[in-house]
Amino acid sequence: MSSSVIDFIATEARFGARNYEPIGVVLSRGEGVWVWDTDGNRYLDCLSAYSAVSQGHCHPKILAAMVEQAHRLTLTSRAFHNDQLALFYEEIAALTGSHKVLPMNSGAEAVESAIKSVRKWGYEVKGVPDGQAEIIVCADNFHGRTLAIVGFSTDAETRAHFGPFAPGFKIIPFGDAAALEEAITPNTVAFLVEPIQGEAGVVIPPAGYFAKVRQLCTANNMMLVLDEIQTGLGRTGKLLAEQHEGIEADVTLLGKALSGGFYPVSAVLSNNDVLGTLRPGQHGSTFGGNPLACAVARTAMRVLVEEGMIENAARQGARFLEGLKAIRANTIREVRGRGLMLAVELHPEAGRARRYCEALQGKGILAKDTHGQTIRIAPPLVITSDQVDWALERLATTLTQDLS
Ligand SMILES: *Cc1c(COP(=O)(O)O)cnc(C)c1O
Repeated sequence: MSSSVIDFIATEARFGARNYEPIGVVLSRGEGVWVWDTDGNRYLDCLSAYSAVSQGHCHPKILAAMVEQAHRLTLTSRAFHNDQLALFYEEIAALTGSHKVLPMNSGAEAVESAIKSVRKWGYEVKGVPDGQAEIIVCADNFHGRTLAIVGFSTDAETRAHFGPFAPGFKIIPFGDAAALEEAITPNTVAFLVEPIQGEAGVVIPPAGYFAKVRQLCTANNMMLVLDEIQTGLGRTGKLLAEQHEGIEADVTLLGKALSGGFYPVSAVLSNNDVLGTLRPGQHGSTFGGNPLACAVARTAMRVLVEEGMIENAARQGARFLEGLKAIRANTIREVRGRGLMLAVELHPEAGRARRYCEALQGKGILAKDTHGQTIRIAPPLVITSDQVDWALERLATTLTQDLS
């Protein structure tokens, strides 16, 4: 390790809140699927900043749009109109088939905004008695880190000593439509769920689950809110993961790749009157919908489609999954994934996934463990067949080692 690496890591540890435990690599440059550390070592990025850099690091067209807009106008606040917001609305609505859009910044803000909006819809449209609205969520969910959201997490570390929490949430098992049916009451306003649970370890629900969920939400006049902050925008090989299920959400949440990793941009999309209940002064964000964010997001969406990244995610994801399944290693318990949202779950006896991620770092691959036993693999959607094969070779050598 060079002295500069020790210095960056030690200085972070000295001054920073220790709310992360990064792999010991200090990155200073990125291009496409590759990132370089301060010593000039190159790595294939198999995390993509939790799917935010789906378009690849420093995509030249998004970069150009950002620089051009930064020279002209960055922030007006929503107190005034700007000449980018309308175009962003038009383009994201056309891309996703949505009618209404609420622009925010982080993913957690989009989730919070959806919670506020479906509650308001519940009181003003559905007729739920004031203060009684219920939202159903799933065990092992990940929707962000704000107080309302961590209040309905089932992960002890996420919640411990952050309470008291907001009431009005009911937790049911993921992938269990009967549990949803049982949990619904006349005061239920929404079911908030990830199409595939990402942070839980890329958990794919049983076939037919979402068709039944859609049916229950419609029958009970409640909103199906799909958190596609990680699964959306091509990650699973379709624009939205809901398309694999043949359903349409009432409210869709996007973030992460909406900016291609340049800037925090998120959005709440609705295809009915949920967002229509918000009136001036009732919700807002200083940076939400700013011209810089809009210009970046417009280009991030455009390159995703124009450069065939969604089709590539389907093609390379299938190749990657097949390659992972072909690895014969005693360490592997299960391999799963859809598109380029992949995971290798290790046997408990194999040792912790973090050890394997550190071994992969030594072979030029950056991946991140989740929940102890799972290595997730989510490279930028611009990955080529040769790069997939290159990664598979290294994964095979690493996973056949015993690091317990
Ligand atoms: C990352 C993520 C969020 C939170 O997004 P932030 O930008 O970190 O606030 C919410 N939901 C899902 C499914 C995510 O993967």
